[in-house]
Amino acid sequence: MNEILCRACGEGTLKRFLELGGMPPVNAFLDESEIQKEKKYPLNLAYCPKCLLVQIEEIVPPEELFSNYLHLSSASVSNINHLKDVADTLNKRFDITSDTSILEIGSNDATLLGFLKQHTDNLLGVDPAKNLAQLSREKGIETLTDFFNTRTAEEIVKTQGLFDIIVALNVIPHTPDVVDLLRGVKKTLSPDGTLVMEGAYALETVLQGEFDTIYHEHVYSFSLHSLISTFDRAGLKIVDVEKIPTQGGSLRIFAKRKEDAGEHSKEMISILDEEKEKGLNNRAIYDQVENKVKNFKTQLKQIIENEKRSYGKLIALGSPARGIVITNYCKIGKDDIDYMIDDTPLKQGKYSPGMHVPIKSWNALDRNEKRTFLLLSWNYKDHLIKKLKENVESARVIIPFPKLEVQEIG
Ligand SMILES: [Zn+2]
Repeated sequence: MNEILCRACGEGTLKRFLELGGMPPVNAFLDESEIQKEKKYPLNLAYCPKCLLVQIEEIVPPEELFSNYLHLSSASVSNINHLKDVADTLNKRFDITSDTSILEIGSNDATLLGFLKQHTDNLLGVDPAKNLAQLSREKGIETLTDFFNTRTAEEIVKTQGLFDIIVALNVIPHTPDVVDLLRGVKKTLSPDGTLVMEGAYALETVLQGEFDTIYHEHVYSFSLHSLISTFDRAGLKIVDVEKIPTQGGSLRIFAKRKEDAGEHSKEMISILDEEKEKGLNNRAIYDQVENKVKNFKTQLKQIIENEKRSYGKLIALGSPARGIVITNYCKIGKDDIDYMIDDTPLKQGKYSPGMHVPIKSWNALDRNEKRTFLLLSWNYKDHLIKKLKENVESARVIIPFPKLEVQEIG
């Protein structure tokens, strides 16, 4: 047996609890000519018995996953609203003035920094995707095209000094060498500065059987317990935490340099207690995941067969990473889905990773034809169902999570 050590604490030997099979990089949408060359990688999920961090076993090199990234922050209205909310939260909590310096790791197309620009010009984005940095610069946001780590942190400190606020939304789950990233944060944070980060909460996602947050880009699923020791190794201390609804359940974490941190907040202590009560440190909670996931697949396939008999092939709503995981694991392909509708212009005209379903815009829909839709972007349900109602007279919609069901629209 191959033993794999925990990537975060370096002490525990990983225990596998879920096998999702071969999975392509879920953000690599393909031109027709690229379909033949597509690579798949095994996707297995494990947890560390020492620090309890949930993580995938095999890593695909980040350079292969992120250098031409098609997920745009500004592509969905719901995501823009979320980032607007983050900007408001930061402004309220930290009283941002023109003196406040803010660094965003994984700044994407600088949607969030764009909102913060009304308060301060001391902004820096860091993102490895070359196609995105250009979009950020067009918004007047200075951007470093690179991965954030201890090396780039040193460069940044030399040229720009320390930062009061460092934001990393959904970045740490994507970063194999998380301790190095956090050490970089420690170097870059001013003595009174705060790191604000968000990521999917294992207890409300994968441990409930919502396996669609698991993909190669997404190395970790958090719990609060699992992050404390990882942050400690980097010289950081978590001081506060909030539960937020994004991605089917996420944590927003506030951390400071260990020596300047102070005590844990009440909210943090109550979430730690709740994690213990729910059995996060008990093997049983991990062992029940695979059964939940297998049952989901059987039921979804059954529903799709029934719908196809009445309304023909389905149309998917959205082609997000999570939807690519669902379609690949459940083997839902061109025989089941006509096409996927996605607002991201960069995806339109391409084919979905793994199952090679064409991606189209809303214009492809026939207003009067009743069809069944598979809501792959189920975390943006309200927004997409509203948009669907504007585009068709009536429809049936399969909602995969949090509870698998079919809804009649119109
Ligand atoms: Zn560990």
